[in-house]
Amino acid sequence: MTEKSVHIQRKRSKKRHIWVFKDEIVQINGHLLQGDIVKVYEGGKFIGRGFYNSKSNVRIRIFSSEDEDFDCPLIKKRIADAYHYRKKLLPEEEDFRLIYGESDNLTGVVIDKYQDHFALQTYSYGADLRKDKIIEALLALFPVKCIFEKNDFPARSLEGLERKEGVLYGKPEEVIISENGAKFYVNIKEGQKTGYYFDQRITRRKVREMSEGKDVLDVFTYTGSFAINAALGGAKKVLGIDGSASAIELAKRNAVLNNVGDRCQFLIGNAFQVLRELYYQRKVFDLIVLDPPPFIKRLKEKESGWRGYRDINLQAMRLLKRNGILVTSTCSHYFFWQDFLECLVSAAEDAERDFKIIGRTTQGPDHPIILSMPESEYLRCFILQVY
Ligand code: SAH
Repeated sequence: MTEKSVHIQRKRSKKRHIWVFKDEIVQINGHLLQGDIVKVYEGGKFIGRGFYNSKSNVRIRIFSSEDEDFDCPLIKKRIADAYHYRKKLLPEEEDFRLIYGESDNLTGVVIDKYQDHFALQTYSYGADLRKDKIIEALLALFPVKCIFEKNDFPARSLEGLERKEGVLYGKPEEVIISENGAKFYVNIKEGQKTGYYFDQRITRRKVREMSEGKDVLDVFTYTGSFAINAALGGAKKVLGIDGSASAIELAKRNAVLNNVGDRCQFLIGNAFQVLRELYYQRKVFDLIVLDPPPFIKRLKEKESGWRGYRDINLQAMRLLKRNGILVTSTCSHYFFWQDFLECLVSAAEDAERDFKIIGRTTQGPDHPIILSMPESEYLRCFILQVY
């Protein structure tokens, strides 16, 4: 039988990348099926093994630089490594993104750990085909109560995968997780994405540190995470806004869970409108958090997304008191630091306010950014202060 292998040729700066694109393939040996494991060679040299997918622009996703199978021992080792890495950097925590795909050497796999509940997402055909092995590995490593598949997201179609959700093991229940000592209810089945956004843990801690005695506005609050951190940091009062009624319900319950319900108010509303209404009502705040959903999901949305970011930032800037602080984020990969900065400069001009940059944050250590894989960075946050 012919060895299933692929010969590739990549440009400089792409040579350590885990993905191999269609136009980088020079030669294919053997009859390859979608999701097959292939040996990969570059310049005649074996460079690793990967998943092949003829339906995706990312033709190969390299999962190992060794000549080994994608089996339970390999997955177990990768998950155990990822767990220990997180425990080193976040020793107090038991809830985090356990596997962040390529950054944890498990291409196309995302696992969020909520105590003994695990949310699994697979966005590579090869990993999706081998989900049973991922489940086996999790069961061998942790006292698991539930593994829930959260695969109802659009990017699955890029790999030729259908969208679906459901129980893979056990029975899902609402759990209480902890982050920097704050508590949150998580319901994997009903929640947005996998239930909780772990990526903002660093920014949340900063907000907590800056909130003492302040009047805080948290826009796009979802679980109320920023609002609650502000209240835990001693904010005088906090207003949280979200367009989703179920998010507001959850935020209110979370505030009570953290004993800060008396200082937190939550309102359902469209951020773009509410920010304008607050301005006409002459309301002002000491600290405003903007943590919107991604306005740019594809490169072609860059212009319209830019206008969205500019608008909410402009509206928020007008609501700041003297020395007020704006904590503003984007989770759009294609909205690079320089784009974001220029957008904020433009918003500040129209708001007729001057700011200094007092901080920048990005995704937390449970979402490692890989040097040779710029796609692994998506969360960017500026902390600005009026002067
Ligand atoms: N800050 C949150 C995450 C926000 S996710 C956290 O730390 O967990 C983005 C949120 O924005 C979602 O909850 C979504 O319901 C809300 N949203 C999206 N568009 C909105 C709009 N136009 N106005 C208000 N909320 C909106």
